[in-house]
Amino acid sequence: MSIIKRKIVVLVVFCFGILFSSCGCTSKITDTNIINNESNNISQVVEEIQPEKELSEIKANEAGKIMILMYHVIGASKESDWAQTAENFKRDLETLYEQGYSLISLNDYLDNNIQTPAGKTPIIMTFDDGSVGHFRYIIDEDGTKKIDSQCAVGILLEFEKSHLEFGHTATFYVNNDPPFGQGNYWKEKLQKLVALGFDVGNHTMTHAKLSKLTSDSVQKELAGLAKIVEETVPNYKVNSLALPYGLSPKEYNFALQGSYDGYSYENKAVLKVGARPALSPVVKGFDPTKLPRVQASTGELFKWLEYFKNNPDQRYISDGNPKTIAIPEENKELLDISKLQDKTIKYWVKVE
Ligand SMILES: [Zn+2]
Repeated sequence: MSIIKRKIVVLVVFCFGILFSSCGCTSKITDTNIINNESNNISQVVEEIQPEKELSEIKANEAGKIMILMYHVIGASKESDWAQTAENFKRDLETLYEQGYSLISLNDYLDNNIQTPAGKTPIIMTFDDGSVGHFRYIIDEDGTKKIDSQCAVGILLEFEKSHLEFGHTATFYVNNDPPFGQGNYWKEKLQKLVALGFDVGNHTMTHAKLSKLTSDSVQKELAGLAKIVEETVPNYKVNSLALPYGLSPKEYNFALQGSYDGYSYENKAVLKVGARPALSPVVKGFDPTKLPRVQASTGELFKWLEYFKNNPDQRYISDGNPKTIAIPEENKELLDISKLQDKTIKYWVKVE
């Protein structure tokens, strides 16, 4: 055994979010001395030696980047930038699982409620355009129906059975086409998606180029789609928008909220079309109203997987505890303390 014993010093800083948020304070912890000198703002500082495996072995880095994957057509006979075969989609899931990724919902990401197991990397999955390959029923002659095991929903549910830790959550961004083909079944499908733990997002009524519309028409597009989904799925709120073509309204605020014909909408997140991994929700610069996505074509997805293999320090790695934010001490400059709410910060440093 040639393991070099390393002393791991973990600074556990209990900070009360209410103190920071109420004063809008964005001052940062820069070192232990300053922490001790600012005891007015910080209730308790604990220094302790942690067993090596606790944080350094898993290389917990909750200031790292998170990929929001963007799929379009699933089940194409031939792959293109905007279409994936069912087999390649299964391959993606296998690859992600093997490389330590685990699905989280967009809402948990936005709420900084990341429950990814220790040592794993959260990843978010999105599907645009509500095509039938996302959610297809196979309907027997007697009318009984089952979810097609070759559509995205079927593949995700089937994969989870043998890879429980991976999960199956995703957000489906739909238009009023109606969603998922198969005419009469769209309402039932929206309800089923939500019942299964998936989310439904806004992709406008008509897959509109929002940059070309008046503010009134933008609100008509967004309120209209939100209304259809929310009237179909009881107690469900559509709270995110994927911009068709990546084009945003001239008055950006109408991507976030507005109303039309007495119906209001509000989006916590706006997703773009490209073209890079997103930031951790606790770092400076995190902006849920302009979230980048990674196109899940074979070329782009595997390019970014390779990037994180070659740059492991850039990758978000969970500490397994949604109540704590664990990061290497060298990354503490990245943190935005005002985003921590009631989380406990753990910095870990290696001492040879
Ligand atoms: Zn689209």
